[in-house]
Amino acid sequence: MPIVRVALDIPLPTLFDYTVAEGMAVGVGQRVVVPFGRRQIVGVVMERIAATDVPVERIKQVLRVLEDTVPLSAGLLDLLRFCSDYYRYPVGQVVLSALPIRLRFDKPVIAKQEKNFRLTPGGAVLNLDDFPKRKVVQRRILAKLAAQPCNLAQLKSLSATVGKQLKELEGEGWVESYSSAPSLGLPLQGDASITQHTFDSVHTLTDEQQQAVDAVAQTGDYACFLLHGITGSGKTEVYVHLMHRVLQRAGQILLLVPEINLTPQLEGYFRRRFPDVNLISLHSGLSEGERLHNWQQAQNGAAQIVLGTRLSVFAELPGLELIIVDEEHDSSFKQQDGLRYSARDVAIFRASQCGVPIVLGSATPSLESYLNAQSGRYRMLRLTGRALATARLPSMRCININQTVMHHGISENLLREIGQRIARKEQSLLFINRRGYAPVLMCGGCGWLSGCKHCAGKMVLHLSDRRLRCHHCGYQVRVPSACPDCGNADLHPVGSGTQRVESVLQERFPDARILRVDRDSTRNKHAWKTMREQIHANEVDILVGTQMLAKGHDFPELTLVGVLNPDSALYSSDFRAAERLFAQLAQVAGRAGRADKPGEVLIQTAFPDHPLFRALQKHDFEGWAASQLVERQMAGFPPFMYQAMLRAEGRQETEVYAFLDQAHSSAVGLQHAVEILGVVPAALPRRANHIRAQLLIQSAKRKDLQQFLRAWQPLLDGLPAQKLRWSVDVDPLEF
Ligand code: ADP
Ligand code: ZN
Ligand code: ZN
Repeated sequence: MPIVRVALDIPLPTLFDYTVAEGMAVGVGQRVVVPFGRRQIVGVVMERIAATDVPVERIKQVLRVLEDTVPLSAGLLDLLRFCSDYYRYPVGQVVLSALPIRLRFDKPVIAKQEKNFRLTPGGAVLNLDDFPKRKVVQRRILAKLAAQPCNLAQLKSLSATVGKQLKELEGEGWVESYSSAPSLGLPLQGDASITQHTFDSVHTLTDEQQQAVDAVAQTGDYACFLLHGITGSGKTEVYVHLMHRVLQRAGQILLLVPEINLTPQLEGYFRRRFPDVNLISLHSGLSEGERLHNWQQAQNGAAQIVLGTRLSVFAELPGLELIIVDEEHDSSFKQQDGLRYSARDVAIFRASQCGVPIVLGSATPSLESYLNAQSGRYRMLRLTGRALATARLPSMRCININQTVMHHGISENLLREIGQRIARKEQSLLFINRRGYAPVLMCGGCGWLSGCKHCAGKMVLHLSDRRLRCHHCGYQVRVPSACPDCGNADLHPVGSGTQRVESVLQERFPDARILRVDRDSTRNKHAWKTMREQIHANEVDILVGTQMLAKGHDFPELTLVGVLNPDSALYSSDFRAAERLFAQLAQVAGRAGRADKPGEVLIQTAFPDHPLFRALQKHDFEGWAASQLVERQMAGFPPFMYQAMLRAEGRQETEVYAFLDQAHSSAVGLQHAVEILGVVPAALPRRANHIRAQLLIQSAKRKDLQQFLRAWQPLLDGLPAQKLRWSVDVDPLEF
């Protein structure tokens, strides 16, 4: 009797064997329903085998094959197997978590019917010259439909009123709508209409852009390119031209972006550049139905461009010909729980698996990618100037906070500059990486600090609703009227967050329009969109915001950026803190002076001579990266070392440490060529009443580390850890 090995969403590092009844056709990649314990659950067939070790009396039968979806491809299954092995995560959980939620359950998958439009026979013979000239949009629609039938998304790029205009055209009898058959995800390849697309080529490429495009376009096989270009150098334009070339060959493109907040904007941008190309997005902000629909469009090849956040790296893409990872250095490509994968690294593996080129783009590449580009493993493509001849890089200056008058965290110099911008009707942005009013409340009598009773961290003061909130565990209390320790009423905020900066500015510039952009002010789904529109309409004088504002947005009236408290990252215990700060400041500085107005960046610091600020001022990423790499090499840190972190947490300190100590001994006992560090408390040693500690393993060779982890995992699985949560994080970013 044939046997299949099935991936199930069960936290065990194994596949599960089932028999297949006579007459039941089950193929690799198909979704099946199987009995598991007392439940019936959905799994994916990974292999067919002839014999199993499972005793005959225990083996069960596949109950049903779910035929309403196309089987997963062998290529995708290989990719998922690789991730399971590399990131040490149960294969079944990897496979199931890569699927849209709807496909993980035993419910019929009803594909969304797509509404399409085409010309009626009458519409087809209509002479556009006889059609009323003033009906501009209708003329455009007719012209477009004369070339080929379109779906609504494709027509929407023509005008905002397309829906209404279509109704009129339908009423006149020139156009008719039809639903396409529910898509089962059947491949659409070979559809000749795909190759014809409009390409809105607005710019002549600069020489550097052209060279970058040519280098990638000439590659028919796997190659990894690092596109290193300062903000505004026209990386996006390079992406667009590369996409155009792939679209001409009817290939699919995967474009990975870090931020879900940015996807609507980017979606709009690429739709405008390729008005009749089917572009879909994949990110966690979509409804389950949308995600399934989009995923299936990618699977059947109908989606030509897939724009998504990290999870989209697992989309089926039968015609994949190019992968682009924008802002490749961004840490949000790394998932911090469950399958702790780096979408950038998985994308590189996928590109090599499929034999297609991949482009990593950034103004401040990660040191990992940068080193690879220098050593020749990746190919370096540089854009050294700003694409718009008129746009200049912003000038940067440090303000020494020890030599100037400060007003609750804002220097007098900075306030003066803001005043000048307001007078000139230009925008200013104050960047501070802390939300709330103040990071801590302190008692002037006894020195009490507002610690969280569940965590090792401090509670942040939120004045708007007079609460202390822990940003680690969410615990909150009302602001006490007196010190809980000594009863003193003299409690005062220490340090600044976005709310405090906002209120200082309000006092100083009572007539200014101030907008605060942080996680608190943008909680509402549409708030951020409305804010962006306000900024673009120049209805804002001063923006106060966290890193949300640093990324990718283009604000033409913005000419001043003030950076309020970058110093803690300079001397952090996390060796990547400085790298991240450089990237963040370069990015936030890139917001200033993008159009024809020169921008200025003022950095408030106690260390104006720090090499990081010097390098930033000279826009010298190369010099900075070189010095960082020397430091990393001497200290034996990544990218010269490969790391894996074992983390554990639990209520009892003794249990947490006993587990990690045993893990340590078993690691040592394996006698592999890896370095095993000591068991230490986590950076936040207590969170939500759980004690947290960790153990780091590293090796100069990735292969050695991988071999070690494969041997270590079963030993870890065998350790007593009933009351603990533990995980292995390969290539960890957080310490
Ligand atoms: P990046 O992605 O590197 O930050 P963008 O691609 O957004 O840069 O380009 C910055 C600006 O320069 C945009 O307004 C873009 O339209 C413009 N631009 C890009 N390439 C060219 C070019 N070859 N000629 C003129 N303008 C260009
Ligand atoms: Zn006190
Ligand atoms: Zn807490």
